[in-house]
Amino acid sequence: MKSIGIDIGGTTIKFGLIEEEKIVLHAQAPTPLKDPFALAHCIADLIRNYGGQGWETIPIGVACAGDVDPKTGLVTADNLGWMQVPLGFLLEKQLGRSVVLEQDTHAAMMAEWENGSLKGEQNALYLTLGTGIGGGAILDGRPYREIRRSGSEFGHMITHAGGEPCPCGEFGCYERYASAAALVRQAKGYSSAREIIDAVREGVPEILPVWENYIDEICVGLISLISIFVPDVISIGGGISAAGDFLLNAIRAGMEKHTAYRQYYHATEIRLAKLGNDAGVLGAAAAAQRAFKEG
Ligand SMILES: [Zn+2]
Repeated sequence: MKSIGIDIGGTTIKFGLIEEEKIVLHAQAPTPLKDPFALAHCIADLIRNYGGQGWETIPIGVACAGDVDPKTGLVTADNLGWMQVPLGFLLEKQLGRSVVLEQDTHAAMMAEWENGSLKGEQNALYLTLGTGIGGGAILDGRPYREIRRSGSEFGHMITHAGGEPCPCGEFGCYERYASAAALVRQAKGYSSAREIIDAVREGVPEILPVWENYIDEICVGLISLISIFVPDVISIGGGISAAGDFLLNAIRAGMEKHTAYRQYYHATEIRLAKLGNDAGVLGAAAAAQRAFKEG
């Protein structure tokens, strides 16, 4: 079965044409972030240009950051400055057909659960370290977001009381300290997380304390999450997971410093997500297929 997945990221909109659960055609366009009308127009163009013959009838799923209501198509996203934006309606107007909207972290987690790092897991967490921090939970074989749509926002767990202001209105949220964007802010003079990680690998002396502190910030949140859920697995995705085993080994070593983790929580395995950049696109398409089959 053919389907289309769209993932609206902070810098690019990713398009994927999917056949037999694999992406057979990739495309992308810059994200017009602040303007929902321009964004809907841009997504519609990608679908018309790359969707091939018959795009009008195949399942189309769109993954978006923020609080996404798949039923009403309304999106509230602090990081985008969106309050109840009718993205579903705007897309339907542009395309002359309906699409399925899904929250981006949930879409990516479902893809990891179906075909990636969380396959077969019954109690697991998913954490994306990117511009912000996204979270998802599978509890006793059920995605928690099916129970509470706006739940598992791990990025807004407060790890520094009275700390840095967050777009959500609180202070000291986890994502202000442990997202990829936070690393870039802390490092100063670097333009991307990748550049910083390269410098750490090369052993640039000034960057090492920043990196160690950053890993500690990640671990502090992980310890809280493990204390609450005691999951079998935590899978880490998002832009920074591209650093692969280098990041994973640093986190695992960081976790060993925490007494609670050593004594009680050794059963929690920390892994890297498998689907990388494609998780959102695959998850959006899978959500659309599920909706299609359910009629
Ligand atoms: Zn927050």
